[in-house]
Amino acid sequence: MSYWRMPLDATEQEISIGKVTILAYRCKGCKYCIEFCPKKVLEESPDFNEKGYYPPRVKEEGKCVNCNFCETICPDFAIYVTVEESRKMMPGDVIKDADTGRRRNRREK
Ligand code: SF4
Ligand code: SF4
Repeated sequence: MSYWRMPLDATEQEISIGKVTILAYRCKGCKYCIEFCPKKVLEESPDFNEKGYYPPRVKEEGKCVNCNFCETICPDFAIYVTVEESRKMMPGDVIKDADTGRRRNRREK
């Protein structure tokens, strides 16, 4: 069973969806961005760059929450995120998982 609760100030809250840009030629394949992305948006690309490293790629579009952590942690300025879409919070955005009790975003399915 799943159910949701809305914050009292929901109509003032916005959810932003990030668009990830990867500058593959700058990447040195350290995988920090892949490892530490809280939404597990990234994975290692099967193609290597001109330096011989495997840069990240986006695993699933629409899951990035624009937290900018990958951008902050990348030592080579090889990844950045911009807001692709922004919308008001709606009922059903936050779901409580009955099995784990953990709240998750609807896009995490
Ligand atoms: S953190 Fe930067 S350099 Fe490291 S794998 Fe990610 S994009 Fe490449
Ligand atoms: S901005 Fe945040 S959620 Fe999006 S890819 Fe980077 S670390 Fe992951």
